[in-house]
Amino acid sequence: MRGARAGESRLEMNEVRHLSAGSMLLQDDPAVLPADTALVHQWAHIRTRLQVEVGEVEYRSWLRQMALGAIDGDEITLLLPSRFLRDWVRNQYGERILALWQTQNPAVRRIDIRVGVGREGLAESLTATPPPAPAAEAPQTAMQSTPVRPAMRSSEEMSAALDPRFTFESFVVGKPNEFAYACARRVAEHPASQGFNPLFLYGGVGLGKTHLMHAIGLELSRSQARQSSVAYMSAEKFMYRFIAAIRSQQTLEFKDQLRSVDVLMIDDLQFLIGKDNTQEEFFHTFNALVDAGKQIVVSADKSPSDLSGLEDRLRTRLGCGMVADLHATTFELRFSILQAKATRASASVPAKVIEFLAHKITSNVRELEGALNRLIAHAALFARPITLETTQEVLHDILKVHDRRVTIDEIQRRVAEHYNLRVTDMSSARRARAVARPRQVAMYLAKQLTARSLPEIGKKFGNRDHTTVIHACARITELMAKDGSFAEDVDLLKKMLES
Ligand code: ADP
Ligand code: MG
Repeated sequence: MRGARAGESRLEMNEVRHLSAGSMLLQDDPAVLPADTALVHQWAHIRTRLQVEVGEVEYRSWLRQMALGAIDGDEITLLLPSRFLRDWVRNQYGERILALWQTQNPAVRRIDIRVGVGREGLAESLTATPPPAPAAEAPQTAMQSTPVRPAMRSSEEMSAALDPRFTFESFVVGKPNEFAYACARRVAEHPASQGFNPLFLYGGVGLGKTHLMHAIGLELSRSQARQSSVAYMSAEKFMYRFIAAIRSQQTLEFKDQLRSVDVLMIDDLQFLIGKDNTQEEFFHTFNALVDAGKQIVVSADKSPSDLSGLEDRLRTRLGCGMVADLHATTFELRFSILQAKATRASASVPAKVIEFLAHKITSNVRELEGALNRLIAHAALFARPITLETTQEVLHDILKVHDRRVTIDEIQRRVAEHYNLRVTDMSSARRARAVARPRQVAMYLAKQLTARSLPEIGKKFGNRDHTTVIHACARITELMAKDGSFAEDVDLLKKMLES
């Protein structure tokens, strides 16, 4: 792979060179540097400013590796070692960096942030007091201009981009996922520790497997101390890369590159079922890495023992470390996730709406997120506040899918849940108001939402008479007219049950 790697980095360099044809190329030609110490000083100043502005953690995660590339007329080229970093820095800090340049050097009009390797040591040696003792000979000084370690490069080339939103901080923890979360954190903090290697995460679609894997990767690349090289890819990507390597007769390079990482994460392993050669390759890579004390993280939609179609020896090895299950979400978790996402989006979503969505959309977090995003976008677009009514309107189609014909049992269950009662209280003889009132609500809703007759409804509520049901309906109607918040409560229940 060495050949291919060099080829790729040459390509990136050409990108830069091409862009600044005829300009001074600081990184390749040490001779021009003394003339441009001013620029380097400006750059050092800007870096310090950025560091202060964004804080140490953020600076180290995103900006520290940025290097001065070239200056071409009024345009400055800055270099970052990966596409992922480049895109992120461009979007998040591009404008600020330009503004800072302009305070230093008004001639600068544009900033171009590209992939490439710069002379990082340069700016640092100008700011740091004693520069590190220079290596004896001049040619070696020139060598210092490639500060990115080979292992880092190869894993970045191997790895798919990590989504910067999928952090541990943005992951909402609840009963169904707390174990998987704790395992993922543990792996991010102490990769390849006994008992946690491999880490096998499994669960249904949209429950946070990919999110947790990205969080591990982000956390590891954030912690400078560890300097681990991380490769994350889907099993599908793994297969395509493997096939491409075979075609181009570079399987050895492919293997080398994979085996050079400290942490290998393969997402959606179930994809490899039935792909025997790729499985075999993965099995060998897996063994080589584990034997070398490297961490493996794998996700799948089922537990290792349920992944039939996977080779037995692979299944066995996958189950040898830590197996963590992401369970279906609970109402509480869905509620917290919605709340967290609404806060993150700075959207004002009434608690009633959040409660409604958490009740109605129970499939997975992705759908929940999609619904909330649509709601927020709609509210922003039409400058309308989010209410239960707009929610039903905007999410009409999503909610319909989750619709079922409502039964009296369902009404009793939901009402009991809402008022913190047992379902049996719905048919019990207890007459205390705390029980009797919710029971009346349930009867009222049964009349409104089902086609059952009054005697039928009475029968379902502990063999009560039909006149009791009539009385309940009248009482609830009356209370709703008098008490706005009670009416809203009943409406919410009704919407939850019907929409
Ligand atoms: P999976 O890989 O299990 O199919 P993902 O990790 O892609 O699921 O999750 C789907 C979406 O739901 C992502 O946008 C993710 O950020 C979000 N998500 C899932 N679980 C949580 C959680 N506990 N907290 C916050 N967001 C979550
Ligand atoms: Mg996934």
